Amino acid sequence: MGVPTQTVKTAYDSAMENFDLAADALDLSMDVRNMIKYPERILQVTLPVRMDNGHIQKFEGYRVQHSTSRGPAKGGIRYHPGVTLDEVKALATWMTWKCAVVNIPFGGGKGGVTCNPKEMSLAELEHLTRRYASAILPLIGPQQDIPAPDVYTNSQIMAWIMDTYSMTKGYPIPGVVTGKPIALGGSLGRNEATGRGVYYTIQSAGEHLRIPIKGAKVVVQGFGNAGSIAAQLLDSNQAYVIAVNDSRGCVYNADGLDIPKLIMHKEKTGSVVGMVNSEPITPQELLAMECDILIPAALENAIDETNAGAVKAKIVGEAANGPVTPAGDAILEKNGIMVIPDILCNAGGVTVSYFEWVQDEQHLFWEAQDVYNRLERVMKNSFAEVLKIHLDRKVSMRTAANMLGISRVAEATTLRGLYP
Ligand code: NAD
Repeated sequence: MGVPTQTVKTAYDSAMENFDLAADALDLSMDVRNMIKYPERILQVTLPVRMDNGHIQKFEGYRVQHSTSRGPAKGGIRYHPGVTLDEVKALATWMTWKCAVVNIPFGGGKGGVTCNPKEMSLAELEHLTRRYASAILPLIGPQQDIPAPDVYTNSQIMAWIMDTYSMTKGYPIPGVVTGKPIALGGSLGRNEATGRGVYYTIQSAGEHLRIPIKGAKVVVQGFGNAGSIAAQLLDSNQAYVIAVNDSRGCVYNADGLDIPKLIMHKEKTGSVVGMVNSEPITPQELLAMECDILIPAALENAIDETNAGAVKAKIVGEAANGPVTPAGDAILEKNGIMVIPDILCNAGGVTVSYFEWVQDEQHLFWEAQDVYNRLERVMKNSFAEVLKIHLDRKVSMRTAANMLGISRVAEATTLRGLYP
């Protein structure tokens, strides 16, 4: 007899499990499920890169297009040592439902390179990025598939991708990526869009549950683009951000951390660790902290069946993609905690990416306040639509969001019919 193998659930398993829950609630036929559930196209590339020491190192990269039913594939590019094809497939799948939840005319895609950008020089990152862009070039384009930043990628990396793509075509094509620098056709408000969208949905959840932002206690796991901007907006609206962490450690102050100073401290030192007027705590203590709002803003699977029972927040706003596993979800739901699911909560990023793409296509740029106003409308309307399904159908907020997104993709796919 063989030794029983323990099955560890992956992010893609979670994505598939959550799809089935929503598809069952929608009573979706097997025919339609077979047309929309799985990635349309997967590209895996090997990237030889000359490093500063003169040697050539190879990296693995991926681009997955999960769906192009409603428009070009859309989704970020992640640089992280933990990137796997399974993870990129999960992230691409979530992008499809996310774009549909906020009703923007995009499908879902995602890319990633298994690397540790923290150990690479700027020149090495540029070589890697240009080689990766060349390798995925047949798939990307403003009408096909439009990358954006994700974990450990930024506007500079988008600028290199835009340049590599444009040089091969012979003319500037800013619409091939979003999250670009403003000087290259980026949108005002894109950098802070994800955190701002997180803030708007938390505001809506607070109104529904009668938890005012003013005076609320907030905990943030992951102090990067999404987490730090959400923290900043909550702090400037008189919430107390009492605990925060990043990959190097956690900081805590029961009376609220000084967020503008913490942002400067992280910019200067590369971490939140060592912030003045704060004490260190463990990541486990951070998740279990007594608070009103918990924002997981780091990576997948942060809250699972081993730690979900310890969460004491009333609202969990998923700034990260896939931070709660299906088993963790069930525990949070049993404990009456409102989860604002990732595909709704963090959809501000892709929404303003859409605005950026529209501006690039029209060669006409909007003022920051226009971007914020449009974003607030999209986020709050989408929250209201998901909340209505949650209340009417008595399903979790995650299943409600998936039902909304999946039904829109199912409708578009059915109307288009089966080719050939
Ligand atoms: P980022 O690179 O700016 O920040 C990531 C942060 O997480 C860093 O502070 C890092 O130190 C921290 N971190 C990494 N591992 C950690 C750990 N084990 N514990 C605690 N902190 C840890 O990335 P980001 O763009 O802010 O993305 C964060 C999450 O938000 C990801 O899940 C991403 O997919 C999601 N997201 C980002 C955007 C966007 O526009 N940036 C949009 C939608 C979703």
